[in-house]
Amino acid sequence: MHNISHNSPQHSRLLTSIPKAISSAMFRAFKAEWPLILLVAMLLGTSGYWFFHHFSSMAPYPVSWISRFGNGAFIGYIVALVLTAIPLGLCRATVRWLCIAAASALFVAEGCAFGIWGLHISPALLTLAAETNMQETRLTASLLASSRYFWEVLAALAILLGLYIAVNGRTAIINRRIASFGWRKSARTVAWIFICAITAWGIRSAIVISGIYRSDTSACLERWVVRNDELQEYTDNCSRLLFALQSVNLMKNDKRDWEELQHSFLTQGDAVTSASDSLQVVCIIGESFIRSHSSIYGYPLETNPRLCREAMRGNLVAFADMAAFAKHTSLSLRSILSVNPSGDGNRWNSAISFPSIFRRAGFRVELNDNQLTYASSIWAFSLSAVMLSKTMTQHCYNSLYVPQKHTDDLSFVDSVAARHPVAPHKQLTLYHLKGQHLWPSYPDTPEWNVFSPADIPNPGRPWLDSKRRQQIAGYDNATLFNDSVVSHIISRYRHTEAIVVYLSDHGEEIYDYRDAALRQPPAPGMMQEFLAHQFAIPFFIWMSDLYMQRHPAHANLIRRAALRPGSLADIANTFIGLGGISTPCYNPQRDILSPEFIPAPRLTNLGDTLPQMPMPPVAGPAPHNLHGSHETPNFVMANNGNNTPP
Ligand SMILES: [Zn+2]
Repeated sequence: MHNISHNSPQHSRLLTSIPKAISSAMFRAFKAEWPLILLVAMLLGTSGYWFFHHFSSMAPYPVSWISRFGNGAFIGYIVALVLTAIPLGLCRATVRWLCIAAASALFVAEGCAFGIWGLHISPALLTLAAETNMQETRLTASLLASSRYFWEVLAALAILLGLYIAVNGRTAIINRRIASFGWRKSARTVAWIFICAITAWGIRSAIVISGIYRSDTSACLERWVVRNDELQEYTDNCSRLLFALQSVNLMKNDKRDWEELQHSFLTQGDAVTSASDSLQVVCIIGESFIRSHSSIYGYPLETNPRLCREAMRGNLVAFADMAAFAKHTSLSLRSILSVNPSGDGNRWNSAISFPSIFRRAGFRVELNDNQLTYASSIWAFSLSAVMLSKTMTQHCYNSLYVPQKHTDDLSFVDSVAARHPVAPHKQLTLYHLKGQHLWPSYPDTPEWNVFSPADIPNPGRPWLDSKRRQQIAGYDNATLFNDSVVSHIISRYRHTEAIVVYLSDHGEEIYDYRDAALRQPPAPGMMQEFLAHQFAIPFFIWMSDLYMQRHPAHANLIRRAALRPGSLADIANTFIGLGGISTPCYNPQRDILSPEFIPAPRLTNLGDTLPQMPMPPVAGPAPHNLHGSHETPNFVMANNGNNTPP
């Protein structure tokens, strides 16, 4: 008390003068540079594409608009603060126009890339740009010049810059006019509300976005994306660029480590197989298949009639409790492909992929992929980087097929079959399907439009209006289409010694237990349903008659494993076991088919542990229990408790 009163006059002068100086600087910057702040908000928060075309589904959330313009305005305001701190003259003008030029470049890049290729400023766009050689640069330039999007974006930029130049020269006059109308006080209040709002929003965004640079591996960055999905997808052009630069940088390191590991295994690794030379191991990677929408698991609509028939014949075994490692394609796929130590799919880049092990053990390896694209999202970008990396294309795959044009899964499977017949020697064949990702497409013909909105069961789901029912019917039709795709693949191998494994990379939801679709975050009190839809997946193993004849013991192991809780992060071990391969990478305790299997905690990419989520299949012979000691049918469970299909 004594001390404070001793210093009090100076102290209090200081205490009031510092905030006063800061607030007057903040206000001065806004008053002098508000046209610049608005210009930068427009250049960074939008793209020229928007001036001429409206987005139908790209920016559906109010938070995305707040994020884009809020971040843009905050960056504009920071520039304004810097400018007012620089003495008037050449230096200030140079800084101003350099900042405007940089924002304009991002505005043009985002607008043209989206208009022409459907890409945002993203890791994929940077990779494309980096991999473009001189000749392609000339081609790109002529493509730009002949594209109407390019000219539209330039026109939008010219309009914005013209408006800015017109207003900027009159800022003082406009400010005085506002004052002379007697609006000075309310204008001041509005200005302060704006300044406080964008500063608060901007600081929040800066803290979140700084997470990009706290990530030191691409897995870490992807975990950041999972937590801040909307910020990554719907953010301003400057944050997009920061994110893309860091993604490319981290992915490059991880990919290099991974490729070196695959290369050394493919050339010197230890793997031998006892399999006969005619064994066909087939892995079908599906997409966004909701387990409870499969009639094999008790869905009341016949969405899997062909696979149900395979199950009734005893060729197909459906697993009751298989779970994905992540609910994003790329993360899930890398965990599926890699023999992750202790089932931790996050460490994919320090693990050998099972296709590499098959190749080293003497199998032919074939990849047929109907999903690899250079889309904007980090998932598509990082998936392509791994699956189509140079090491894999040169040293692992004997045959690689990635259609250049969009094609549905059935045409894709037919064109794979038309390329060559099933190989007369032992082979691992991977199919990566488009599957049922929302919103799924399937041929719009009566053959595939089987289910209509009237068929959709809705007890307890008051949110199901006619539009939502139509969407669910569409999903179920796509599932029926997928049933045909998978059985087409199976029929290729019917008369060979073959084993076909179908798995979905993750689940999905479509108004099943709440009014939400796609893969939205969990709602309070609905965690169990959330996990059962997005992480629990349908998982089938089909065996040809010849396979069952030659490997009766193996066939029994498969039937006995059907109720075990499994994880896709461990599934590489199962494939190694199916290939009869001996390698130090193999861990039988992680192979769901092995007698040595030990159920372990099932981790997700965020480090959470999944609970048991059994949904015993209703089609086919009763699955055996964990130890196969008694044969009580488990059909009853499928119609009880939380297993009831929606
Ligand atoms: Zn997926």
